[in-house]
Amino acid sequence: MNILREYKVPLQRYMAMMDLQERNEKLFYKLLIDNVEELLPVVYTPTVGEACQKYGSIFRRPQGLFISLKEKGKILEVLKNWPEKSIQVIVVTDGERILGLGDLGCQGMGIPVGKLSLYTALGGVRPSACLPITIDVGTNNKELLEDEFYIGLRQNRATGQEYAEFLEEFMSAVKQNYGEKVLIQFEDFANHNAFELLVKYRKTHLVFNDDIQGTASVVLAGLISALKLVGGTLKDHTFLFLGAGEAGTGIAELIALEISKKTNAPLEETRKKIWLVDSKGLIVSSRKESVQHFKKPWAHEHEPVKELLGAVKAIKPTVLIGTSGVGGTFTKEVIEAMASINKKPLILALSNPTSQSECTAEEAYRWTQGRAIFASGSPFDPVDYNGKVFVPGQANNAYIFPGFGLGLIMSGAIRVHDDLLLAASEALAAQVTEEDYAKGLIYPPFTNIRKISAHIAAKVAEKAYELGLASRLPHPKDLVKYAESCMYTPVYHSYR
Ligand code: NAP
Ligand code: MN
Repeated sequence: MNILREYKVPLQRYMAMMDLQERNEKLFYKLLIDNVEELLPVVYTPTVGEACQKYGSIFRRPQGLFISLKEKGKILEVLKNWPEKSIQVIVVTDGERILGLGDLGCQGMGIPVGKLSLYTALGGVRPSACLPITIDVGTNNKELLEDEFYIGLRQNRATGQEYAEFLEEFMSAVKQNYGEKVLIQFEDFANHNAFELLVKYRKTHLVFNDDIQGTASVVLAGLISALKLVGGTLKDHTFLFLGAGEAGTGIAELIALEISKKTNAPLEETRKKIWLVDSKGLIVSSRKESVQHFKKPWAHEHEPVKELLGAVKAIKPTVLIGTSGVGGTFTKEVIEAMASINKKPLILALSNPTSQSECTAEEAYRWTQGRAIFASGSPFDPVDYNGKVFVPGQANNAYIFPGFGLGLIMSGAIRVHDDLLLAASEALAAQVTEEDYAKGLIYPPFTNIRKISAHIAAKVAEKAYELGLASRLPHPKDLVKYAESCMYTPVYHSYR
């Protein structure tokens, strides 16, 4: 840690960590686990974003497995080249939408590598059981295509049938090589492919999309835990989203599902108190232009409203959620409108990175006279307002996916069911303590993340057994203990 802290440039810390992972894996994980709050932003967002942008020029040794369009027809052979035979989690990207940075082609490899190191550090999945994969179907990023250090195919992206066939070959090769129980996490695919791949493969493979499902689960957890502060149950609330993409519609759907489970009301009913605004305004049924299929469930009856402020005044939401990727969109007027409608407005500004956050923590507290319950996608420092210190929570997906994955693995689950996501949300919400609430926090501190992951894993596994999706028999008696016993821990013995 002393050496790492000597590097003042984040990218240098990242490179030092990657070198360490290569040279001494056990020490890498020991450091990461013992200093998780300090090192998470180094091996993952935001630094990993910069690393992906410069991946070609900082490239030293390959990490993970690249599968390029040139290997069409031979993907199974390529998979067999990977030295580890027993794989439990694959994180795969095609690099088309890396974080909020757009198309980085096969330089997106930093993401699967980073996510999997969190699977190990936070969720205890054995490092050797993790396989990062980048599918290289080209890139439409002109700068990269002309960059002398670009490491991928120099061609525009394959699309349509060519793309679909290549992914189909990949998905069946994975199943053939690793069996039914390998978890395939789709990561940072572009919006159109992300929805399609999930719908297509959830019936035949153990697949999970963190951008859609992981986000939904972590945000739902925050909402459930916020109920302690704002009162009522989820069904008493009205939700308004700015942004109706992977994150927004994924979260909306999981909220509707949770309310439907809790109240026995049909989904069509519970969706009615959830409204979304996209780049064209409030999504309503009378909209003239065609609405993408994943937005259709949210096109409720209402007259058209163009602006967010108008939508807030018309819908009178108790919860405002930002998933647009556009910074500064929760203006003073918008937040003040929320504050005039609600005693304790719940405001989630989820867009990353920090510059894209819909508002800052300080703005949320100041414009509501300290009444807002606030959490964000990117971290904000505690805010001192009128002598009281408010600690904003971070809706970080890293709370959910490592424990979620561990739960699937330890129960031998063969399919992901939405109920497993609900179980993960409830398990995370249950980890927030009175002490956290007193600070205004709706997420627990990250320092206890391995314990939190074990609890999430246990609840996910329990649900998988209940639904008949688990194949590991007999059912372990104490699932939390069992989860902990499954976790990889880098231990150094003392010889003193
Ligand atoms: P996405 O699929 O591209 O969706 C973006 C949505 O925002 C689209 O519906 C788009 O409208 C809408 N939009 C864009 N500009 C807008 C504007 N000026 N006014 C109103 N709506 C606008 O992106 P995503 O994957 O959902 O991610 C969105 C953001 O959420 C990103 O910043 C990401 O970092 C963040 N995120 C946070 C977390 C977390 O906190 N844990 C997790 C995942 C994602 P159209 O549909 O009309 O184009
Ligand atoms: Mn992602």
